[in-house]
Amino acid sequence: MTDRSLPRAIRQAMPQAREVAVEVAKQYGVCIRPVPLKRLDVHTGRWEVVDVPCGATLDAKCPSCAKRNRQLRMAQCREGWHLDHEPAITPDEPTDEQRWLVKFRADLQARRDQAVSLGEDTADWDAAIEGVDAEIHEAGMRGNVLGHTVPKRTRSTRRRQDAPNLPKRRMAPTTLGRTFTSSDGKVYRPSLFVTLTLPSYGKVHDGVPVDPESYDYRRAARDALHFSKLVDRFVQNLRRVAGYDVQYFATVEPQKRLAPHLHMAIRGTLPRAEVKQIAAATYHQVWWPPADTVRFDGDHLPVWQDGAGYLDPATGEVLPTWHEALDQLDTDHDAQPLHVIRFGDQIDVKGVLAGTSDADQCIRYLSKYLTKSLADSLDTDNPAQRQHAARMVEALRFEPCSPRCPNWLRYGVQPKDAKPGMLPGHCRSKAHKPDHLGYAGRRVLVSRKWSNKTLAEHRQDRRTWVLEALGQPGEPADPHRYIWKPLPAGDANVPPLAMRLLRSVAERQRWRAHMAQLRAEADGQDLSATEGRVA
Ligand SMILES: [Zn+2]
Ligand SMILES: [Zn+2]
Repeated sequence: MTDRSLPRAIRQAMPQAREVAVEVAKQYGVCIRPVPLKRLDVHTGRWEVVDVPCGATLDAKCPSCAKRNRQLRMAQCREGWHLDHEPAITPDEPTDEQRWLVKFRADLQARRDQAVSLGEDTADWDAAIEGVDAEIHEAGMRGNVLGHTVPKRTRSTRRRQDAPNLPKRRMAPTTLGRTFTSSDGKVYRPSLFVTLTLPSYGKVHDGVPVDPESYDYRRAARDALHFSKLVDRFVQNLRRVAGYDVQYFATVEPQKRLAPHLHMAIRGTLPRAEVKQIAAATYHQVWWPPADTVRFDGDHLPVWQDGAGYLDPATGEVLPTWHEALDQLDTDHDAQPLHVIRFGDQIDVKGVLAGTSDADQCIRYLSKYLTKSLADSLDTDNPAQRQHAARMVEALRFEPCSPRCPNWLRYGVQPKDAKPGMLPGHCRSKAHKPDHLGYAGRRVLVSRKWSNKTLAEHRQDRRTWVLEALGQPGEPADPHRYIWKPLPAGDANVPPLAMRLLRSVAERQRWRAHMAQLRAEADGQDLSATEGRVA
């Protein structure tokens, strides 16, 4: 990225300039990892390079984008929680934006693959891809672009997944909860705020096991790996009992003991005792092959043979494939699930009324840690907590995280879609990483009929709101005005990062000054909250 035509002394000073620019950018809420794109203005026929915010959700990657994202999520949560009209869901055609995102995603993937082949670090590309994937999801497409559409195997699971013992109500075709009218005619729309926590794995003090030897790290690891499935089951059971299409906005956050837990805003209400009963009755069985006896370890590892798959190095016996192992599980009537996960006793259910300060506080609580990774609750100055985290990572190291995990080889099963070079203990999946500690799922879980808007629409709302507050009607944008193209890596038209950041800061300053001027002009209107909302 450095311009070779510059004198050496200036080139050497560049990294420092870059650091300063990054700090300034952070202060002004400007994205510090902008993605340069080429934009053609079809009205003028001019191409220019435009920086698009990276869209990261974590502080550690880009605090400016993470903060904006968190504010957007809060708006989304607020709008859906106490909705008083039925959201209209219409299946829609892929829009231009969606098509563009998919093409852009493909380009990023190609650049990432190129980085891999050059032996370069792919962290930046991975982050960008993650961001675009999130955008694609938010743009209203379900599933992922790579389209893992292998038919799901449900046979054994369906037979063995026992239904919990819960009352079942008739489904009413509504997503709204009940309302109650007081004697003075006021209508109340009560909703719920629920916190669900995993069970105890041993006594903990200040986030650290009192006795690490007896702390059940294996259970903690497996619970974290399958947590999202348990949440799915909870929602299924909740809807069955509630008798309506319950909508929710939930976030998965870390506890100090490094286990994931869940905060959930639920539209509508149920008796608290019933919610507790549902949580207590909810469980998920993991019907995977056994993984408790180590068959291959150290130098004694299965070997790959083209055409056959993985073999036992001593006997030449071909290990069962993933599907064979599942078939075996099906026919064995004494088989036990690999793991059964349930919630712990700490279930908190709170009734919340729309528009109260209580509701606002819950929304802040729901979004509090969204910009932090699961491992960020760790106090790195505390050696006991560091050791606890290290033991958790160690426990996750050999746990199979998915059917494709290379760790299956350790337990004598070929992973699904086995290929040469797989090594137990070296799975590259997020779930094993210290930042994720077993939970690799989405941090925000929003049901489809929550606010009836995509994140992109919420973003547009914010913009319109500001313009209206300023008495400036938003001009109807021509959706076909611009054509966007990704820029090839190292394109000479992209100035150094420091320069781009400072340019964005200057734009932000101009814009703020403009806002302040408009505010001064808007006679008598109180717009003191405006700046805070849009910054
Ligand atoms: Zn950013
Ligand atoms: Zn894995």
